[in-house]
Parts: sequence; C-alpha cells; structure tokens
Amino acid sequence: MNRFDDPNVRAMLRAVQKPARYTGHELNAIDKSDTFFQLEDSARVHFALCFPDLYEIGMSNLAIQILYGILNEDEHTFCERVFASDFDMRQLLKEKNMPLTSLETGTALSDFDMVGISLHYEMAYTTMLEMLALGGVPLESSKRQEDDPIVVGGGPIACNLEPVADFFDFIVIGDGEEIILEIVGALKEKKKNKINRRAFLLSIADIPGVYIPSFYAIDYKENGHVERIRTLEEKAPEKLTKRLLRDINEAPMPQKPIVPNLEVVHDRMVMEVLRGCARGCRFCQAGFTYRPLRERSVETLLETADSLIEHTGYEEMGLLSLSTSDYSQLEPLVRKLLPKTEPRHINLSLPSLRLDSFDFDLAKEIAKTRRAGLTFAPEAGTQRLRDVINKNITEEEMMEAARTAFLNGWDRLKLYFMLGLPTETDDDVEGIVTLVRKFIAIWDNLPQDQRSKRLNVTVSAAFFIPKPFTPFQWSEQISVDAMREKQKQLADSLRDRRVSFSWHEYDSSVIEGVLSRGDRRLKEVLLDVWRSGAYLEAWHEHFDAALWYRALSKLPGGEAFYLKAREEQEYFPWDHLDLGVTKAFLWREWEKSQEGKTTTSCYDGCSACGNERYRTGVCPGSELGFGGSRA
Ligand code: SF4
Repeated sequence: MNRFDDPNVRAMLRAVQKPARYTGHELNAIDKSDTFFQLEDSARVHFALCFPDLYEIGMSNLAIQILYGILNEDEHTFCERVFASDFDMRQLLKEKNMPLTSLETGTALSDFDMVGISLHYEMAYTTMLEMLALGGVPLESSKRQEDDPIVVGGGPIACNLEPVADFFDFIVIGDGEEIILEIVGALKEKKKNKINRRAFLLSIADIPGVYIPSFYAIDYKENGHVERIRTLEEKAPEKLTKRLLRDINEAPMPQKPIVPNLEVVHDRMVMEVLRGCARGCRFCQAGFTYRPLRERSVETLLETADSLIEHTGYEEMGLLSLSTSDYSQLEPLVRKLLPKTEPRHINLSLPSLRLDSFDFDLAKEIAKTRRAGLTFAPEAGTQRLRDVINKNITEEEMMEAARTAFLNGWDRLKLYFMLGLPTETDDDVEGIVTLVRKFIAIWDNLPQDQRSKRLNVTVSAAFFIPKPFTPFQWSEQISVDAMREKQKQLADSLRDRRVSFSWHEYDSSVIEGVLSRGDRRLKEVLLDVWRSGAYLEAWHEHFDAALWYRALSKLPGGEAFYLKAREEQEYFPWDHLDLGVTKAFLWREWEKSQEGKTTTSCYDGCSACGNERYRTGVCPGSELGFGGSRA
C-alpha cells in the first residue's frame, strides 16, 4: 500500500508544521521501488542516508546529494533519505508507536541493510541517538543483532567521533565518495554469502579509511588521560589512514540534485570548485584534515553547470569550497558561467571569499543583478593575534579591500571574529573595536557622491573551540565566565548605531568543546543527556545546558577536564587516526603560534605537514619528495 493511503499518515501530515518535510517525491528524487524490490534480497543493498537534523538543513548539504547520487547509480543499491522529525512529528510518531521512516518509500530505519549517518557538528549527537531509537535500531553496536542494520558514520567531524564511537559498527575517515561503493560491495558479499556481522566487519577492517571502534580498546591513566589505544583484532591496523580522493575531477558531482518542495537553508544549486585549503589558519580543522587542496577543472564545472541549470530551475548557483577565491581558475570559470546564468536571471554566489584575493571587477560582474553583503573574516582584532592564528592578512589589505568595495557600491559589511583565541589579551579584544572603527572611518572619509547613503556593519563573534588535528589541539578553551567578560567588553565598546553585534552562545560552545576533544567515556554523558530529552540541540532554542552540566558532573573533573590545555607528550583519544597532517607538524605549528610566527601557505612553500605522501593537488611538497623542504 502506498503510505499516503494510510489514514494515520495522512492525519499526521495534516497535523504537523511543514508537512513537505516528510513527503518526499521532490523533483529528481529517486524511487526504485518498482525494480529494486523485485531483486533477490541477497542481491541488493537498501541504504538509509541519514542527516541528524531537520529536512531544511539536511537538504542543504552537498555531501548528502553526492552520496545519494553515487549510491543510486548502482542498480543493486537503493539509497533513501532519512532526516530528523521536528518536535511535532516526533511526538505523533511516539504517540502512535510508529517508527522513523525514509522519505522515498516510508521504510522504517530498522528495515534497511545499512544506515549511514553524515555528521557535520557535534551538537547533532543527541539527535542522531533519537533518530536511531525512533527508527527501531539498537543504539550500541554491541547490542545489535544479525537482523539489525549495519550503522556507519562519516563526515567532516569523523576525525574524532570517540564520544559516539560505540554507536557505530564502523566509521569512514576521509572522502566518503571514494569508499562508499567498496563498502556496499562488501555488504553485497555479506548478504550473498550469509556471513555474520562480525565476519563482515573483519572483512572490511583493513580497507583504508574504515575504522571499526569495537576492534580497539582505550586504556586510561588514573588522571583520566589516554594511556594507550590497543587493537583487539589482528586485522585492525594500528594506525588508521584517511581515504583521499586523489583526482577530484573523477569524483561525481550531483548532476540532477533533488529540488526540495519547501524552502531550505541553502536554496540553490551548488558546485564544489575545490576541496581542502592551502592556507593553514591554525584554528581550522577542515583546513588541515582536507589537505592537500584539490581543484576541479573548469570543463567539469561547466558541464555540471549545464546539467544543474537544465534539471533544477534554481535561481541561484553557489560556488562552494573552504576558500573559493583561492580557486586558480575563478576568473575564467565565472566569465564562462555568466553567459549561462545571466540570461536566465540566475545569481552566482561565492560564499567563501578571502579579502586578499578578492577581485572586485569580477565581483561587480557577478553582482550585476544582486549585490550581496560583503563578508570578511579577520578572526582577530590585532596583527599580533592574527599572526598567532596564522591568518595571513594585514590591516592594510583589509582597509584597501573595504575602500574598493564601498566605492563599488557595497554598503553592507559582515565581519567575523573569534573570542578566546590562544594568547588573547584585553588589548586584542579592544583591537576588534579599533578595527571596526577603522572600517567605518574608511566609509566616512569617502566623498558622499562616491558611495551609498548608509553603511551597515554586522560584527559576529564566535568563541574559539580547540579542535583535533589542528595546532590548537593543545590549547585550553576559556571558561563561560571568561566568555561572558570578553563578550561584555566587546559589546560595551562597540556601541554604534551602524553596528550590530551578535555572539555565539557560551554554554553550547563549552559543550561543543567537550565533545570535540572528547573520548569514549562521554558515551554515558550523551546517553544521560539524550534520555533526559535532549533533541535538535544544534538549534539554540532547543539546547538545554543544564542537562549537560548535570551529566558531566558525574565524570571525574567534569567539563573542565576536557577544556584544559594539553601537554606536549599527551596521547590523544584520536591519535590512532592518521588524517594526513602529522602530530610533529602540528606541534611545530603550535610552538610557532606561541612565538607569534606565521607559516606560509602551500602556494608559497611547503611546511612539510605530512600530506606530501599523497602526491596530488596543490602541494609543492609532493614534488620535493617526502618530508619536503620547509618553508
Ligand atoms: S606537504 Fe607541504 S605543500 Fe603539501 S599540503 Fe602539506 S604543507 Fe602544503
């Protein structure tokens, strides 16, 4: 029976807000029910691709669209999407004792062969637990029976999923599209040969990029630090290497992405122009874990653009990456894209631009139809602190870029900063105010007939969170009291009717910090918080700090244990993973940061980060040979 013929389902859809979140059947969605279920069960893989947040967020995620496309290309695989229900739908599911189901066919999560969970932020952990529970999947991998789905996790934060490690049968480290079909192939073998879960896991244990948490034991010292990480199976490698997509042009990009039936956060077609970053900002996890930087060719992107335009009907096209202005072919690409987009009134958007490589002639061309606000991320208020974090951009460059922007009609400026960075002093916080005033002074000093009427500046401050696989993984994270003081100092000094100031929540920054550098002992904390009702916590209105502090107080040292500075020789809970950058390189960078010394980008030289071994991308180190020659 079609699930929409079920009066229960119809009544539920009528009762909830935004029912289109749950109906599926969008343009380009794939439903293989007619053919797939005709195949022998042993010859097919039914895959649930989960994003632990609402539909609007999940459908804005490029990774979901990429994996959905790749998996469904395989005729023996049927990949469906599963997102978190909002509170109203979740309540109805519980009342009616109905499971969480997929969008395409309404299949319960527990009935899939494999459940893949894409993780992009730590505050989604409790939502992930609720989705598994609502879907009828036992939470802990050790409790799953032969009939239960195999649960796999991956995504940008998979470089330390230790707090949730026990909930996964295995974890993918690195570029998911590089490995996903290999895993599905192994699962087909499992089904065909009727081998059990353990034998299946053993069969994939030595695939590069596969991490099976149950094959590793963590020993802790009395002081709570990790003593060592032991392998429990001979086949489990001692060091787990990331999977890296060497030729990004070979990697499929969604040509016919699903077009949602309701407005989502990023309502546009997207193309990833490059992956990785060559800059080396010391706080940026993705900047290090996705090295080396790899670019897609203009030809590949133009072909994709044609397909996206033909198959979607969107009015905006986003060129995505960690730093889009670093794309070496940006100008030729944009000049070739504009004749395709302009006549159809499609706006081009370049969300991640760096000030020092911003081409205003190009920006003016792009902005002919709509002039978006200008976004700069100086991150710190003083040059001293920008050197500490290796944000290689000077005040002069910023002011010059702002001047050019104002003269070219821009009048909305968004500035992003971080508070609580290593070595930060009151002077650095005050430096943010001085910098904002200088931007305003540039505006005020321009002749009135050469700029717009009114300037609007938005200053946004996030609290620094030390992340694994960055030079700042050794740093302390400041306390809530210190956050409050810094925020107040900034708010008091920033008063200006042209400036609006927003800042990130204190407590969720602390909890994110705990989870980011956390270990497996946090499993009990997570279960406690989830059982107390935590759900959709990435939404600040649903985040309840008290649940976390209460649960953390049961661990020796509480949250402070995870926020403190680390010692040089300390063994980290993620030290059995190899994400390309070596610990020795990261330590060198940490020491340089403490001395306020900068490191050049890979464009200007190699600092021997460890990724030279991949011999691909923008990586002069790979030509210099292993170890490179240090810039
Ligand atoms: S090995 Fe050198 S050039 Fe290559 S990514 Fe690392 S620092 Fe950059």
